[in-house]
Amino acid sequence: MIETPAVSTAPTEVITTAVPAALEASAVSAWFGDRKVLDQVSLAMPSGKVTALIGPSGCGKSTFLRILNRMHELVPGASLAGEVRIDGVDIYDATLRVTDARRQIGMVFQKPNPFPAMSIADNVLAGLTLTGIRATKTAKRDLVEECLIKAGLWKEVKDRLAQPGGGLSGGQQQRLCIARSLAVRPRVLLMDEPCSALDPTSTRRIEETIGELARDVTIVIVTHNMQQAQRVSDQCAFFLASQGTPGVIVEHGDTAAMFSAPQDPRTSDYVHGRF
Ligand code: ADP
Ligand code: MG
Repeated sequence: MIETPAVSTAPTEVITTAVPAALEASAVSAWFGDRKVLDQVSLAMPSGKVTALIGPSGCGKSTFLRILNRMHELVPGASLAGEVRIDGVDIYDATLRVTDARRQIGMVFQKPNPFPAMSIADNVLAGLTLTGIRATKTAKRDLVEECLIKAGLWKEVKDRLAQPGGGLSGGQQQRLCIARSLAVRPRVLLMDEPCSALDPTSTRRIEETIGELARDVTIVIVTHNMQQAQRVSDQCAFFLASQGTPGVIVEHGDTAAMFSAPQDPRTSDYVHGRF
Protein backbone atom coordinates (compact mmCIF):
# COMPACT_ATOMS: atom_id res chain seq x y z
CA MET A 1 0.00 0.00 0.00
CA ILE A 2 1.17 3.50 -0.79
CA GLU A 3 0.83 6.26 1.73
CA THR A 4 1.44 9.96 1.72
CA PRO A 5 4.69 10.86 3.49
CA ALA A 6 3.99 11.88 7.10
CA VAL A 7 5.60 15.28 6.64
CA SER A 8 3.56 16.18 3.61
CA THR A 9 0.94 18.88 3.87
CA ALA A 10 -0.48 17.97 0.48
CA PRO A 11 -3.89 16.30 0.21
CA THR A 12 -3.69 12.66 1.26
CA GLU A 13 -3.70 10.32 -1.69
CA VAL A 14 -3.73 6.68 -0.68
CA ILE A 15 -3.83 3.94 -3.23
CA THR A 16 -5.56 0.83 -2.00
CA THR A 17 -5.81 -2.37 -3.95
CA ALA A 18 -8.52 -1.78 -6.49
CA VAL A 19 -11.20 -4.31 -7.28
CA PRO A 20 -12.45 -4.72 -10.84
CA ALA A 21 -15.45 -2.59 -11.74
CA ALA A 22 -18.47 -3.32 -13.87
CA LEU A 23 -18.65 -0.96 -16.83
CA GLU A 24 -21.90 -0.27 -18.62
CA ALA A 25 -22.55 1.78 -21.72
CA SER A 26 -26.18 2.71 -22.40
CA ALA A 27 -27.44 4.08 -25.70
CA VAL A 28 -24.11 5.69 -26.57
CA SER A 29 -24.09 7.69 -29.80
CA ALA A 30 -21.11 9.68 -31.04
CA TRP A 31 -20.44 12.35 -33.63
CA PHE A 32 -17.42 13.99 -35.19
CA GLY A 33 -18.90 17.32 -36.26
CA ASP A 34 -22.11 16.45 -38.14
CA ARG A 35 -21.05 12.92 -38.85
CA LYS A 36 -22.57 10.27 -36.60
CA VAL A 37 -20.17 7.38 -36.09
CA LEU A 38 -21.89 5.38 -33.33
CA ASP A 39 -25.61 4.82 -32.94
CA GLN A 40 -27.22 3.78 -29.66
CA VAL A 41 -24.52 1.37 -28.54
CA SER A 42 -25.32 -0.43 -25.30
CA LEU A 43 -22.99 -2.94 -23.73
CA ALA A 44 -22.45 -4.33 -20.24
CA MET A 45 -18.83 -5.19 -19.52
CA PRO A 46 -18.99 -7.30 -16.36
CA SER A 47 -16.56 -6.96 -13.48
CA GLY A 48 -13.42 -9.08 -13.81
CA LYS A 49 -14.30 -10.32 -17.30
CA VAL A 50 -12.56 -9.75 -20.61
CA THR A 51 -14.76 -8.22 -23.31
CA ALA A 52 -13.46 -8.23 -26.90
CA LEU A 53 -14.70 -5.63 -29.39
CA ILE A 54 -14.45 -6.94 -32.91
CA GLY A 55 -15.50 -5.62 -36.32
CA PRO A 56 -14.12 -4.10 -39.52
CA SER A 57 -12.02 -0.91 -39.53
CA GLY A 58 -13.96 2.31 -39.24
CA CYS A 59 -16.97 0.92 -37.37
CA GLY A 60 -16.28 2.93 -34.22
CA LYS A 61 -14.47 0.52 -31.89
CA SER A 62 -11.70 2.97 -30.97
CA THR A 63 -14.23 5.77 -30.63
CA PHE A 64 -16.29 3.61 -28.28
CA LEU A 65 -13.18 2.80 -26.22
CA ARG A 66 -12.30 6.49 -25.96
CA ILE A 67 -15.84 7.29 -24.81
CA LEU A 68 -15.40 4.75 -22.00
CA ASN A 69 -12.38 6.76 -20.86
CA ARG A 70 -13.71 10.29 -21.43
CA MET A 71 -11.15 10.83 -24.16
CA HIS A 72 -13.66 11.40 -26.98
CA GLU A 73 -14.38 14.85 -25.61
CA LEU A 74 -10.73 15.80 -26.23
CA VAL A 75 -11.27 15.65 -30.00
CA PRO A 76 -12.31 19.08 -31.31
CA GLY A 77 -15.87 19.03 -32.66
CA ALA A 78 -16.64 15.64 -31.12
CA SER A 79 -19.88 15.10 -29.22
CA LEU A 80 -21.80 12.23 -27.70
CA ALA A 81 -25.07 11.11 -26.15
CA GLY A 82 -25.87 8.28 -23.76
CA GLU A 83 -24.39 7.12 -20.51
CA VAL A 84 -21.33 5.27 -19.25
CA ARG A 85 -21.40 3.90 -15.71
CA ILE A 86 -18.59 2.42 -13.68
CA ASP A 87 -20.09 0.37 -10.85
CA GLY A 88 -23.25 2.38 -11.33
CA VAL A 89 -21.56 5.80 -11.20
CA ASP A 90 -22.01 7.96 -14.30
CA ILE A 91 -18.47 8.86 -15.43
CA TYR A 92 -19.89 11.89 -17.25
CA ASP A 93 -21.56 13.25 -14.10
CA ALA A 94 -20.74 16.93 -13.91
CA THR A 95 -19.76 16.63 -10.24
CA LEU A 96 -17.15 13.94 -10.93
CA ARG A 97 -13.69 15.27 -11.74
CA VAL A 98 -12.38 14.02 -15.08
CA THR A 99 -9.13 12.89 -13.45
CA ASP A 100 -11.09 10.86 -10.87
CA ALA A 101 -13.02 9.16 -13.65
CA ARG A 102 -9.93 8.49 -15.76
CA ARG A 103 -7.83 7.29 -12.85
CA GLN A 104 -10.06 4.25 -12.53
CA ILE A 105 -9.65 3.37 -16.19
CA GLY A 106 -6.27 2.52 -17.73
CA MET A 107 -5.63 2.58 -21.44
CA VAL A 108 -3.13 0.80 -23.68
CA PHE A 109 -2.85 1.76 -27.34
CA GLN A 110 -1.98 -0.05 -30.55
CA LYS A 111 1.45 1.48 -30.87
CA PRO A 112 3.57 1.12 -27.74
CA ASN A 113 4.09 4.66 -26.49
CA PRO A 114 6.44 4.73 -23.50
CA PHE A 115 8.25 8.01 -22.83
CA PRO A 116 11.39 6.98 -24.75
CA ALA A 117 13.96 9.08 -22.88
CA MET A 118 12.47 8.40 -19.44
CA SER A 119 13.83 5.50 -17.38
CA ILE A 120 11.91 2.23 -17.24
CA ALA A 121 11.07 2.85 -13.57
CA ASP A 122 9.89 6.41 -14.18
CA ASN A 123 7.77 5.25 -17.11
CA VAL A 124 5.89 2.94 -14.74
CA LEU A 125 5.41 5.80 -12.29
CA ALA A 126 4.45 8.43 -14.87
CA GLY A 127 0.71 8.01 -14.26
CA LEU A 128 1.11 8.82 -10.57
CA THR A 129 2.61 12.18 -11.38
CA LEU A 130 0.01 12.94 -14.03
CA THR A 131 -2.89 12.17 -11.71
CA GLY A 132 -1.29 13.83 -8.67
CA ILE A 133 -0.85 10.69 -6.58
CA ARG A 134 1.87 10.99 -3.93
CA ALA A 135 3.94 8.08 -2.69
CA THR A 136 7.06 7.44 -0.61
CA LYS A 137 10.27 6.36 -2.29
CA THR A 138 9.92 2.83 -0.91
CA ALA A 139 6.31 2.61 -1.99
CA LYS A 140 7.29 3.74 -5.47
CA ARG A 141 10.03 1.13 -5.68
CA ASP A 142 7.59 -1.59 -4.60
CA LEU A 143 5.01 -0.35 -7.06
CA VAL A 144 7.48 -0.44 -9.97
CA GLU A 145 8.32 -4.05 -9.13
CA GLU A 146 4.69 -5.07 -8.65
CA CYS A 147 3.51 -3.52 -11.91
CA LEU A 148 6.40 -4.90 -13.94
CA ILE A 149 5.73 -8.37 -12.50
CA LYS A 150 2.06 -8.09 -13.41
CA ALA A 151 2.98 -6.98 -16.92
CA GLY A 152 5.38 -9.92 -17.27
CA LEU A 153 8.43 -7.71 -17.74
CA TRP A 154 10.16 -7.71 -14.34
CA LYS A 155 12.69 -10.49 -14.93
CA GLU A 156 13.88 -8.91 -18.16
CA VAL A 157 14.37 -5.39 -16.82
CA LYS A 158 15.01 -5.62 -13.08
CA ASP A 159 18.72 -4.96 -13.53
CA ARG A 160 18.25 -1.98 -15.81
CA LEU A 161 15.39 0.02 -14.34
CA ALA A 162 17.32 3.27 -14.79
CA GLN A 163 17.77 2.74 -18.52
CA PRO A 164 15.49 4.54 -20.99
CA GLY A 165 12.19 2.91 -21.91
CA GLY A 166 12.89 3.62 -25.57
CA GLY A 167 15.71 1.05 -25.53
CA LEU A 168 13.35 -1.88 -25.09
CA SER A 169 12.00 -4.06 -27.92
CA GLY A 170 8.50 -3.35 -29.24
CA GLY A 171 6.92 -6.16 -27.21
CA GLN A 172 8.77 -5.07 -24.07
CA GLN A 173 7.69 -1.47 -24.65
CA GLN A 174 4.07 -2.58 -24.85
CA ARG A 175 4.44 -4.50 -21.60
CA LEU A 176 6.01 -1.39 -20.08
CA CYS A 177 2.92 0.54 -21.17
CA ILE A 178 0.74 -2.09 -19.51
CA ALA A 179 2.81 -1.73 -16.32
CA ARG A 180 2.43 2.06 -16.54
CA SER A 181 -1.34 1.77 -16.89
CA LEU A 182 -1.50 -0.48 -13.80
CA ALA A 183 0.41 1.88 -11.48
CA VAL A 184 -2.65 3.97 -10.63
CA ARG A 185 -4.50 0.72 -9.86
CA PRO A 186 -7.22 1.04 -12.47
CA ARG A 187 -10.44 -0.91 -12.10
CA VAL A 188 -10.88 -1.18 -15.84
CA LEU A 189 -8.22 -1.60 -18.52
CA LEU A 190 -9.00 -0.59 -22.10
CA MET A 191 -6.71 -2.01 -24.78
CA ASP A 192 -6.95 -0.83 -28.38
CA GLU A 193 -5.39 -3.50 -30.62
CA PRO A 194 -2.50 -3.89 -28.15
CA CYS A 195 -0.79 -6.64 -30.14
CA SER A 196 -1.27 -5.57 -33.73
CA ALA A 197 2.19 -3.98 -33.91
CA LEU A 198 3.87 -6.98 -32.25
CA ASP A 199 5.43 -10.28 -33.30
CA PRO A 200 3.68 -13.58 -32.44
CA THR A 201 5.87 -14.32 -29.41
CA SER A 202 5.26 -10.89 -27.86
CA THR A 203 1.58 -11.26 -28.71
CA ARG A 204 1.41 -14.58 -26.84
CA ARG A 205 3.08 -13.09 -23.80
CA ILE A 206 0.66 -10.19 -23.69
CA GLU A 207 -2.26 -12.58 -24.04
CA GLU A 208 -0.94 -14.52 -21.02
CA THR A 209 -0.67 -11.24 -19.12
CA ILE A 210 -4.26 -10.33 -20.05
CA GLY A 211 -5.43 -13.66 -18.65
CA GLU A 212 -3.66 -13.00 -15.34
CA LEU A 213 -4.71 -9.35 -15.09
CA ALA A 214 -8.37 -10.21 -15.51
CA ARG A 215 -8.45 -11.26 -11.86
CA ASP A 216 -7.78 -7.68 -10.73
CA VAL A 217 -9.23 -5.56 -13.49
CA THR A 218 -12.10 -5.56 -15.96
CA ILE A 219 -10.64 -5.65 -19.48
CA VAL A 220 -12.04 -4.36 -22.76
CA ILE A 221 -9.86 -5.20 -25.75
CA VAL A 222 -10.26 -4.25 -29.40
CA THR A 223 -8.79 -6.87 -31.68
CA HIS A 224 -8.80 -7.77 -35.37
CA ASN A 225 -7.39 -11.16 -34.54
CA MET A 226 -10.27 -13.63 -34.25
CA GLN A 227 -8.05 -16.30 -32.66
CA GLN A 228 -6.97 -13.75 -30.09
CA ALA A 229 -10.57 -12.79 -29.34
CA GLN A 230 -11.35 -16.45 -28.72
CA ARG A 231 -8.23 -17.00 -26.61
CA VAL A 232 -8.56 -14.01 -24.30
CA SER A 233 -12.18 -12.96 -24.03
CA ASP A 234 -15.20 -14.13 -22.05
CA GLN A 235 -17.63 -12.14 -24.14
CA CYS A 236 -17.52 -10.47 -27.53
CA ALA A 237 -19.30 -7.56 -29.19
CA PHE A 238 -19.40 -7.35 -32.98
CA PHE A 239 -19.47 -3.77 -34.29
CA LEU A 240 -20.48 -2.91 -37.83
CA ALA A 241 -20.97 0.28 -39.84
CA SER A 242 -22.34 -0.48 -43.27
CA GLN A 243 -22.32 1.90 -46.22
CA GLY A 244 -21.75 5.11 -44.35
CA THR A 245 -24.20 4.38 -41.54
CA PRO A 246 -22.94 4.85 -37.99
CA GLY A 247 -21.48 1.91 -36.09
CA VAL A 248 -23.81 -0.35 -34.15
CA ILE A 249 -23.38 -3.56 -32.19
CA VAL A 250 -24.84 -6.27 -34.40
CA GLU A 251 -24.42 -9.01 -31.85
CA HIS A 252 -22.83 -9.60 -28.49
CA GLY A 253 -22.58 -12.47 -26.08
CA ASP A 254 -20.48 -15.31 -24.77
CA THR A 255 -17.35 -15.62 -26.93
CA ALA A 256 -17.48 -19.39 -27.43
CA ALA A 257 -21.14 -19.22 -28.43
CA MET A 258 -20.58 -16.28 -30.74
CA PHE A 259 -17.88 -18.12 -32.65
CA SER A 260 -19.56 -21.54 -32.70
CA ALA A 261 -23.13 -20.39 -33.35
CA PRO A 262 -23.36 -16.72 -34.36
CA GLN A 263 -26.95 -15.48 -34.40
CA ASP A 264 -26.57 -12.93 -37.21
CA PRO A 265 -25.35 -13.92 -40.70
CA ARG A 266 -23.11 -10.81 -40.75
CA THR A 267 -21.37 -11.96 -37.57
CA SER A 268 -20.93 -15.39 -39.09
CA ASP A 269 -19.37 -13.87 -42.22
CA TYR A 270 -17.05 -11.68 -40.17
CA VAL A 271 -15.79 -14.28 -37.71
CA HIS A 272 -15.18 -16.70 -40.58
CA GLY A 273 -13.14 -14.13 -42.50
CA ARG A 274 -15.70 -13.60 -45.27
CA PHE A 275 -15.79 -9.82 -44.99
P1 ADP B 1 -12.36 1.63 -35.63
O1 ADP B 1 -11.56 1.76 -34.39
O2 ADP B 1 -13.46 0.63 -35.54
O3 ADP B 1 -11.52 1.38 -36.84
P2 ADP B 1 -12.83 4.47 -35.30
O4 ADP B 1 -13.54 4.60 -34.00
O5 ADP B 1 -11.40 4.81 -35.33
O6 ADP B 1 -13.11 3.02 -35.89
O7 ADP B 1 -13.55 5.39 -36.35
C1 ADP B 1 -14.97 5.42 -36.53
C2 ADP B 1 -15.30 6.47 -37.57
O8 ADP B 1 -15.01 7.76 -37.03
C3 ADP B 1 -14.48 6.34 -38.83
O9 ADP B 1 -15.30 6.63 -39.92
C4 ADP B 1 -13.39 7.38 -38.67
O10 ADP B 1 -13.00 7.89 -39.91
C5 ADP B 1 -14.10 8.45 -37.84
N1 ADP B 1 -13.15 9.17 -36.97
C6 ADP B 1 -12.34 8.61 -36.04
N2 ADP B 1 -11.61 9.54 -35.39
C7 ADP B 1 -11.98 10.73 -35.94
C8 ADP B 1 -11.59 12.11 -35.71
N3 ADP B 1 -10.67 12.41 -34.77
N4 ADP B 1 -12.18 13.04 -36.46
C9 ADP B 1 -13.10 12.73 -37.39
N5 ADP B 1 -13.52 11.49 -37.66
C10 ADP B 1 -12.96 10.49 -36.95
MG1 MG C 1 -9.51 1.51 -34.08
